[in-house]
Amino acid sequence: MWNKFTLRVKITILTAATLTAMCACLTAISIYNTSIFYDPVLFMTGNRQPIGIIGIEHSGVPYNIGGDENIEIIDEIFIGSRNTFITLSITSSALIILAGTALSYIIAGSTLKPLKNLAEKIEEIDENNLNEQIETTSNGDEVARLAKSFNKMLEKLGQAFENKKLFAINAAHELKTPLTTMSAVIDVLYMDEKPNTQDCMEVIDEVKENIKQLRILVQDLLTFNYELDDDLCEEIQLDLLFEKIIEDLSDSINEKNISVSINGNMTLTGEKNLLERAFANIVQNAVKYNKTGGTINVLIHDNAIIVEDSGIGLPEESIPQIFDPFYCVDRSRSRKLGGVGLGLSIAKQILDKHGMGIAVSSEQGKGTKFIVNSH
Ligand code: ADP
Repeated sequence: MWNKFTLRVKITILTAATLTAMCACLTAISIYNTSIFYDPVLFMTGNRQPIGIIGIEHSGVPYNIGGDENIEIIDEIFIGSRNTFITLSITSSALIILAGTALSYIIAGSTLKPLKNLAEKIEEIDENNLNEQIETTSNGDEVARLAKSFNKMLEKLGQAFENKKLFAINAAHELKTPLTTMSAVIDVLYMDEKPNTQDCMEVIDEVKENIKQLRILVQDLLTFNYELDDDLCEEIQLDLLFEKIIEDLSDSINEKNISVSINGNMTLTGEKNLLERAFANIVQNAVKYNKTGGTINVLIHDNAIIVEDSGIGLPEESIPQIFDPFYCVDRSRSRKLGGVGLGLSIAKQILDKHGMGIAVSSEQGKGTKFIVNSH
């Protein structure tokens, strides 16, 4: 029942209850105080049973100050004025309670009005007007603070929404590229009235290559929404994991004559396939963007995993965006090397899900260092 009331009504009820309790106490105290004044007088006039709201007992011998008639008149005057006082006290208390309740209803209404306005404006917000901000006043009251916090949240939501939109556009674009290529080579084959086996094989190879790219891309996209499965988590020896990654990349490593070292070891708990993917992406980049005859050093110690290469390095302005999905320093170069700018963002996602952080430091022309903290 109580929860169904509006905040305004609740404040009014609480104020009325407080006022009633305070007025009742004050009235009772003042009536009691009058009895302290009146009772001795009544007692002196011979009335042995002084009237007291609280009922004070007096003891002693009755003392008559005049004749019986005078006593009765004095009694009447005192009792009458005392009763009037009690009536007046109770009536004025009731009036004060009524006036206070009405006033608190009005004040609560005007105080809560900005909150009501804020609620109405919040209700108007949907995904189409996330960029709109709620009006805030310059005063520092709670409502202004609430409006400012809400605006900040709107900003973050708007940004997240924009990122999702951009992600979808980029994903669609990347999916479109191999599809367009496949469609084009098949069209060319159709135009040839009598294609020979060689032509057909070339088209099949091209289609196979593009399907492979699509598969990788779809797999990458799925990883973004993947939730960790506790049942698949296990203890992983990182030195063995890195040895396997290097082994898998040995062709490219040998081709560029890169020397690799792995030092230290650590046990991690997580989904092996995912963690292998995250670290493989980092090492693969260290190979892809390395120079011929370069080096890659993997250092595992003090809860940190460092992958350092002697490659081309990163321009300073690219560093803050390096983990953004589909970000490439040089798109055509990445494409030639078989990347679309998802490798590092996937690595970051996976590490995030395992409660790990990743940071990068780099110097253009000298090399890049990725530091993963396992906490
Ligand atoms: P890509 O698929 O293009 O490699 P990534 O997300 O893995 O995408 O990397 C994003 C960009 O960061 C790449 O385009 C590349 O320019 C740059 N990058 C990543 N790792 C390195 C590295 N070790 N050295 C130099 N540049 C790197």
